[in-house]
Amino acid sequence: GSETRQLHVFFFPLMAQGHMIPTTDIAKLFAFRGVKATIVTTPLNVPLFSKTIQRAKDLGIEIHAQIIKFPAEAGLPEGCENLHAANSQDINSKFFTATAMLQQPLEQLLQEHRPDCIVADMFFPWATDSAAKFGIPRLVFHGTCLFSLCTSETMRLYEPQKNVSSDTEPFVIPHLPDQIKLTRMQLPGFAREINVESDFGNLIVRAIESELKSFGVIVNSFYELEPAYADHYRNVLGRKAWHIGPVSLCNKDTEDKAGRGKKASIDEHECLKWLDSKQPNSVVYVCFGSTSEFPASQLHEIAMGLEASGQQFIWVVRKGKTEDAEEEWLPEGFEERMKGKGFIIRGWAPQLLILDHQAVGGFVTHCGWNSTLEGVSAGLPMVTWPVFAEQFYNEKLVTQILRIGVGVGAQQWARMVGDSVKREAIEKAVKRMMVGEEAEEMRSRAKELGKMARRAVEQGGSSWSDLNGLIEELRLHGSSSKQGNNI
Ligand code: UDP
Repeated sequence: GSETRQLHVFFFPLMAQGHMIPTTDIAKLFAFRGVKATIVTTPLNVPLFSKTIQRAKDLGIEIHAQIIKFPAEAGLPEGCENLHAANSQDINSKFFTATAMLQQPLEQLLQEHRPDCIVADMFFPWATDSAAKFGIPRLVFHGTCLFSLCTSETMRLYEPQKNVSSDTEPFVIPHLPDQIKLTRMQLPGFAREINVESDFGNLIVRAIESELKSFGVIVNSFYELEPAYADHYRNVLGRKAWHIGPVSLCNKDTEDKAGRGKKASIDEHECLKWLDSKQPNSVVYVCFGSTSEFPASQLHEIAMGLEASGQQFIWVVRKGKTEDAEEEWLPEGFEERMKGKGFIIRGWAPQLLILDHQAVGGFVTHCGWNSTLEGVSAGLPMVTWPVFAEQFYNEKLVTQILRIGVGVGAQQWARMVGDSVKREAIEKAVKRMMVGEEAEEMRSRAKELGKMARRAVEQGGSSWSDLNGLIEELRLHGSSSKQGNNI
């Protein structure tokens, strides 16, 4: 009967760390419930999943990878199979256009494997049509929180940004549970370009249409974190959504946490040993996600600000255009002076391992949603420094609604402004997060949220139950459409 048949779900994330990492965790969560999970990606992105797939075998759960290839007509340069490579070659928009050419290869896989459902990234609007061709549900994954989903939808419906005369004049986003103010300079690309004739604008419009036709939305968040927005999204905006996070919490041990994302640029054990030698809550972790890059002048200000704060730190500086000109951003004698007090990771950090270490007491973050939620899960107060995309929305959630963070004072997308945040502002925000009464209050609220996060994913918790509910619906859908076929 249908009860005993194993459910098979395809997962197809956008090829970017911030999407592939949480999607891998979601695949794992499904696999832990006995679902067969298949991750679909392109050849050069497969290595990112290999550790998880290997581990799955040890854990006795079923995760597979299937490969699809960009056709030659996509005209992507050699090696350019993810957003990070596309960004470094300044062909962002070409990359998004090329992803649409994955429709045919994906459909071929669907034909071959006949899964029961496909979870596809919001950036692949055509996946809803592909799923429909095979009579299976398509779920959408955005990679952000319910607060930001509500804000985006409200911006689209009411366009409050049209009521101000300049890019720097704040406006209120109407009809939300809280009074949220933003400026046009802080809006994500999908709010800026939604009604603009551009490739990206068109993609976003199609993404919204396809989402409305989809089976629903999977959100990496948990009910207790943003209850007003979970309710608003479902009841006021009428969306079908399941919050099943924090998905990063499915990584229990060091090996799982280290196996997430790219291979770390440092020896994980060295890093943990260094942290072991520190007092609880005494180290600040500074990281701006997988894609943000600052100009040398801004990196210089960060170094000076961290030193002036007097706090111990781990600072992740992404290798990239900054790599060859290190002397330009590193203050004279900085690393020598900071010996034992702080260190720089050049490249990729084992972020989950660091955040979860008891010596870490604060997080300077760009407010990418994965990082933000990983910080919440670790019970950490934050300094918020949004850089691009929907990060200014996430900042409001952290500072204004959850009240577990202080803003560094970023006013607009970093890519546009260079070194707009000065060392004094960085010093001040870091101190506010780490010392004094306000810091203690934020820390205790953050710790409470961290506990709630863990409860949410435990048996009987809100995220646990939502995932069960979703899997149950997928089973029912599968068996009813099977019956339909038999008639
Ligand atoms: N990450 C990491 N090491 C790094 C930088 C990032 O492990 O040096 C991980 C981080 O834990 C998170 C993801 O990469 O899971 C970044 O996603 P996020 O949404 O925070 O930001 P994005 O990279 O999409 O801007």
